[in-house]
Amino acid sequence: MNSIKQKAIAILEKTVLKAGTVLDVRFWEPATFVEIDVHLPETDMRQWNASVQHMKCKVAPATYRDYTPACWDAGTHTCTLFINTSHQGAGSKWAGSLQKGDTIEYLGISGTSHKPLPENQWVFIGDNSSIGHFLALQQLATPGIEISGAIALPPQHHRQFAEYLSLPVTIVNASEKGGSTTLTHWLQQQRYSNAAIYIAGHIPTSVTLRSQAKQNRNIEGRVKVQGFWD
Ligand SMILES: Cc1cc2nc3c(=O)[nH]c(=O)nc-3n(C[C@H](O)[C@H](O)[C@H](O)COP(=O)(O)OP(=O)(O)OC[C@H]3O[C@@H](n4cnc5c(N)ncnc54)[C@H](O)[C@@H]3O)c2cc1C
Repeated sequence: MNSIKQKAIAILEKTVLKAGTVLDVRFWEPATFVEIDVHLPETDMRQWNASVQHMKCKVAPATYRDYTPACWDAGTHTCTLFINTSHQGAGSKWAGSLQKGDTIEYLGISGTSHKPLPENQWVFIGDNSSIGHFLALQQLATPGIEISGAIALPPQHHRQFAEYLSLPVTIVNASEKGGSTTLTHWLQQQRYSNAAIYIAGHIPTSVTLRSQAKQNRNIEGRVKVQGFWD
């Protein structure tokens, strides 16, 4: 990028970027997944009830990635990001380098297509990049809503997921990108009537799961997809 363009972007960013502080960082073992607690004093989290949110984080010069703020507390302006750092990418590198006390910058926070639906059975399906997203959706569930589903994770993270998080879903092996094989196999065996089926994460896997859910006569319900990466 030429220096005039860089300067123009820097001036523009100065007027729109908001700042937050990293309060804590917890890597899972192996360190291909990280939980990052952040303090966002400029954000009013009381507005987050209409849908799961996403935050456009600055991960490198003029480079932005979306991450899902989960486990938020509107009173203290704090939340947690759950980020897959298993691959080579600007976002992965940024998340893997953050330390307690660091400043993060973000362009803004806005809603996704995943909103709380009136069905009393919610089904969550995705890979580990969607963990924060589903924790956020769980936070929006009113009492009486029954949550189930499946998350594809690398085998080394199964125990940590079950120990650290309280998300009542089945853990399946992420055998390849997005856990497509195991998630489609799992979905084939399910029966639902009047369920809200939320699918998130790897885009090609999400598309496959959506058409599988729509074609399966044992699955009745609305299917909502939020693609993340491909
Ligand atoms: C609304 C929304 C919310 C999101 N929330 C989250 C979140 O909470 N947590 C999270 O981890 N991600 C989330 N994502 C995805 C995130 O924005 C990035 O797309 C992702 O982190 C990849 O960015 P990157 O710069 O690291 O890699 P890129 O430079 O985009 O990609 C580099 C390579 O890595 C591969 N890759 C990318 N992501 C993964 C992955 N998860 N597993 C394996 N390989 C991968 C790509 O296929 C590509 O080959 C969200 C995306 C959206 C649209």
